[in-house]
Amino acid sequence: MKVSIASTTASTGKRFLTKQSAQPQAVGTPGGFFVGFMRLPHPSSSITAGPWDVVVIGAGAAGLMTCLELPAQLKVLLLNRNTSRHSSSRWAQGGIAAVTRPKDSAESHAEDTLKAGAGLCDADAVRQLVEEAPHCVQRLQKLGMAFDREGDALATTLEAAHSHRRVLHVQDQTGRALVEALQEQVERRPNLLHRRGVRATQLWIEHNRCYGVQVLDGTLLHWLSARAVVLATGGGGHLFANTTNPAQACGEGLALAWQAGATIEDLEFVQFHPTALKLEGAPCFLISEAVRGEGAVLVDAQGQSPVKELSAGDLAPRDQVSRSLIQTMHHQGVQHLGLDLTPIPTGQAEARFPTILERCRELGLDPLNQPIPVAPAAHYWMGGIATNLQAATNLPGLYAIGEVACTGVHGANRLAGNSLMECMVFARQMATIELGSLPRLGVHQRDSSPEPCCQKLNGSENAESLTRAIADLRELCWQKAGVDRSAKGMQQSLASICKDLQHIGEQPLLKLVSHQPKEICHRLDDTARRDLNLLLDLNHRQLTSSLLLEACLFRRESRGGHFRTDAPAAMPQWKRHSRQKRGEDLSTRPVRS
Ligand SMILES: Cc1cc2nc3c(=O)[nH]c(=O)nc-3n(C[C@H](O)[C@H](O)[C@H](O)COP(=O)(O)OP(=O)(O)OC[C@H]3O[C@@H](n4cnc5c(N)ncnc54)[C@H](O)[C@@H]3O)c2cc1C
Repeated sequence: MKVSIASTTASTGKRFLTKQSAQPQAVGTPGGFFVGFMRLPHPSSSITAGPWDVVVIGAGAAGLMTCLELPAQLKVLLLNRNTSRHSSSRWAQGGIAAVTRPKDSAESHAEDTLKAGAGLCDADAVRQLVEEAPHCVQRLQKLGMAFDREGDALATTLEAAHSHRRVLHVQDQTGRALVEALQEQVERRPNLLHRRGVRATQLWIEHNRCYGVQVLDGTLLHWLSARAVVLATGGGGHLFANTTNPAQACGEGLALAWQAGATIEDLEFVQFHPTALKLEGAPCFLISEAVRGEGAVLVDAQGQSPVKELSAGDLAPRDQVSRSLIQTMHHQGVQHLGLDLTPIPTGQAEARFPTILERCRELGLDPLNQPIPVAPAAHYWMGGIATNLQAATNLPGLYAIGEVACTGVHGANRLAGNSLMECMVFARQMATIELGSLPRLGVHQRDSSPEPCCQKLNGSENAESLTRAIADLRELCWQKAGVDRSAKGMQQSLASICKDLQHIGEQPLLKLVSHQPKEICHRLDDTARRDLNLLLDLNHRQLTSSLLLEACLFRRESRGGHFRTDAPAAMPQWKRHSRQKRGEDLSTRPVRS
């Protein structure tokens, strides 16, 4: 007997029909999507406990494109912790890199990528990126992405360390245009449920295989089973006090993967963008490199260039520019330097950078006549969950795509525009995803009524103290593991974070999460839900920050986005990736050719 369950997506209000079979059936067989029996976790929740074919966690560029590339017959659940529209993907300004001009070539794109990566790019991953990028551009155009054009051709801009104009854009709102185009298609995809405001809290691992995920869905904490899980949770820029990233870019997916036993690589490599707006009382706001690509220059208060020592000047690699700015700021005792847009013709600046100019004007600045105050900020995490060329992790059933992954494309430093393209290229591999089997014990055996939970915070902790602890941790990461780092400061910080991590782990709400049986669903009261969200924020940030510091301490050299004042040179013996895995000592692996 087959029955249909109708539920409504939170985001669109569209009706979404799923078919449920009372007899086990193969995925994709006509009329049947699920294997096994399913029951809703609770009548008020529209997420069935599964089994889903694929659960995609994160709805930025990587997660959205993954949904579109997965075979259409697969039943997909797309989860997004956010209820707002913020994501790094949406905030991307500059553009997306691909060879589209006859004078350019894949070899040149690869060469620039390898050079920026300072000896640590895996050549096979780079090849895959540059060769598949033009196909991804065509695919995006078919999906409705309207790149800026120059006559019949796609318009391109130059960004730092590219030797050709190959960055495609939509004014300075490329990310927004991309996310909106993908989102529109995702909402039309058959067999997909998109739920906002649902947070992945733990991966379901048995015998080293991933079988699903635990979620905090409003007030419900419960497990979902799936044949495959794709982590597309973004990077970790928000671990630092100064960042261009939104708050949910705090490395949560990385923490979940590490706890599950996934291999993590190259965490010490963080890209600090040289030009984030630095204005007292205003949030950090990225001033795209494309602004310098079009002619803007960095200046100090005397009008001198702080980057005159760099051979590529204003368009030198971001780590070099960031360090020059930090050094000049220390030397001159100032909190910011200036970005002078006057070399760009006014009409061109207005047409190309409307968002940047508008944001500056809203804050009382006159960006076309006075230098914009800027300073470096954490921007992109090259390291992440290690994946192969199919985006698979070392745990069968678990995939990672986008900034949360470490594919080997970026090495020690990312070339501008390559990260959005990496999301597209590795999502593309999902067309041939391998689905696994289901766990022995299914969540379909769950008791249908949730257990109430009104657990309180223990000891002296309260919402304010947790919020303060998060802010302090971010400041610590900026001070000790920011643009320049040294062993002394990092060792002390690591010890103190590990102590705090142990302390917070004693909170009963976190124990509820880590010990929840698969067949149980808990319903939290409002206070417990708020406190658990804060505890998870702090706990996962502590874990991710400690992994970051361990990796920074491990690599006793400077390379790409990792600069140690106590080991300022690159060392040949360190031309290897760093690796971290739960229960194992840090190790290295050779660079792939
Ligand atoms: C200001 C800015 C400008 C940039 N400009 C460019 C550019 O011009 N070109 C370029 O190539 N790159 C650029 N980048 C980098 C690029 O935007 C990102 O690397 C890329 O968008 C990452 O995409 P993603 O899908 O991996 O992650 P994101 O876009 O960060 O999306 C992650 C998603 O995961 C969700 N999530 C996180 N944790 C959980 C959880 N536990 N449960 C459920 N959901 C979760 C989040 O809510 C979010 O929806 C820029 C980045 C920033 C911040």
